[in-house]
Amino acid sequence: MKESVLIAGGGVAALEAALALEDLAGDRAEVTICSPRPNFVYRPYAVGVPYGVSRVATYWLEPLAAAAGARYRCDSIASVDREARLAVTHDGESIPYDNLIVCPKSGQIDGKRCHGLGPDQPTLITEFFGNHAHNARNTNAI
Ligand SMILES: Cc1cc2nc3c(=O)[nH]c(=O)nc-3n(C[C@H](O)[C@H](O)[C@H](O)COP(=O)(O)OP(=O)(O)OC[C@H]3O[C@@H](n4cnc5c(N)ncnc54)[C@H](O)[C@@H]3O)c2cc1C
Repeated sequence: MKESVLIAGGGVAALEAALALEDLAGDRAEVTICSPRPNFVYRPYAVGVPYGVSRVATYWLEPLAAAAGARYRCDSIASVDREARLAVTHDGESIPYDNLIVCPKSGQIDGKRCHGLGPDQPTLITEFFGNHAHNARNTNAI
């Protein structure tokens, strides 16, 4: 049976996590990228905007997620119940998961309500990531 993996976030950390999962877990994982913003923003180009030499590049997340073997869900995770393995959206909907990867940048999910999350917590490693997990510095996998 497939393990479900919920990735909270839609930035480069989330996409890299999805790509790594596709590579490492393949068909064993059913991956969902969950982010309130429907597009991926490529920030490095932003530095040239004030000088008129570049524009901020944005790409729709849905096709990017699909290219990484994942599904896109437009939602914002507000809190996590680790014992029940449920992520709760800001609209109050519960999303069950087997594995959760958290990469919405620090402080955007209520760490007090999801023990073990937050920038001061060590990254917890799932079997999917194995030795590759130390490369995912912006990511907490629980
Ligand atoms: C102007 C500028 C230039 C940069 N240039 C470079 C560069 O040249 N090279 C480099 O390596 N880095 C650069 N960076 C840094 C780089 O952009 C960040 O390190 C990178 O974006 C971090 O990726 P991330 O996925 O962790 O977070 P983000 O890109 O910030 O993505 C966070 C994602 O989480 C989502 N999210 C937020 N809250 C929630 C929630 N509650 N539930 C679900 N999803 C949520 C957001 O919608 C977003 O999709 C630059 C940054 C800036 C601002």
